[in-house]
Amino acid sequence: KQKEWAKLVNDPTESKDGHHVELAANIGTPNDMEGVISNGAEGVGLYRTEFLYMGRDELPTEEEQFEAYKKVVSDMDGKPVVIRTLDIGGDKELPYLDLPKEMNPFLGFRAVRLCLEKDDMFRTQLRALLRASAFGNLKIMFPMIATLEEFRQAKAMLTEEKDKLKADGTDVSDDIEVGIMVEIPSTAVMADTFAKEVDFFSIGTNDLIQYTMAADRMNEQVSYLYQPYNPAILRLIKMVIDAAHKEGKWAGMCGEMAGDEVAIPLLLGLGLDEFSMSATSVLPARSQIANLNKKEAEEAAQKALNMQTSDDVKAFVEETFPSEM
Ligand code: PEP
Ligand code: MG
Repeated sequence: KQKEWAKLVNDPTESKDGHHVELAANIGTPNDMEGVISNGAEGVGLYRTEFLYMGRDELPTEEEQFEAYKKVVSDMDGKPVVIRTLDIGGDKELPYLDLPKEMNPFLGFRAVRLCLEKDDMFRTQLRALLRASAFGNLKIMFPMIATLEEFRQAKAMLTEEKDKLKADGTDVSDDIEVGIMVEIPSTAVMADTFAKEVDFFSIGTNDLIQYTMAADRMNEQVSYLYQPYNPAILRLIKMVIDAAHKEGKWAGMCGEMAGDEVAIPLLLGLGLDEFSMSATSVLPARSQIANLNKKEAEEAAQKALNMQTSDDVKAFVEETFPSEM
């Protein structure tokens, strides 16, 4: 298997009936780029920048961030790189920010909520991203967006920083796509409205499942509720993809579900455009997709959407698309 997969390293990702999708990789630091390239990823679909901020005593400078982002976009050599702005909070703490303890950190002051408030810190990151955009195909993504106003505020800050940089004569790309993570149910439900203003969606199923099922993703005792194949989750995913396509935008997924062998036929059938996963999953996923027909996947997805339980969906997919692993 490993040998067969290795042959696909320079191939595009295509279903048996010729439908193209993009397989991208999730990274945490620029050091992960070697694995991204050796596994034949067609882009970076999620760069989790919070790791730049963690395990240290103070905020990273604009220069440090610029160097990290520049390396990633340069290494990808024109292929797309989606960089997510700081997603701190929840399970990821930054002791030096001195934030008050919260009763429900996953529902609290985190990610873009915190960035919009601490806007000096946010603008530093945005400037580093804008400067790095001159070196490749950089896209900017805001995490944990719950309302359209949050997106508009974040985008306005980005535009302000961009105008300032350009006024100073700094090189900034003029076609940076700006998108959002869809990981809060309100945003999935309102995807049709968001789709008119964002350039793309990336579905964060790790959090979307947690918030939809009201089940803490870190809590073993409720892990039985962590159900990627639950028709409720599939229906939300469909809403997001359909809303994007209706406005001519693309929809990706960067949660664990995107690299899941059982989920892949359903996601292909629902029309997902980009799948972002750990680098080591890229070649197995490319091989799996090469053996699927988009038409058949569409029919299967349609059936799954109307099933009753997560277990029903899983059994149905395993029977319809037997594993090749
Ligand atoms: C997600 O929520 O699905 C996601 C990709 O982000 P993270 O796992 O970093 O919360
Ligand atoms: Mg998340």
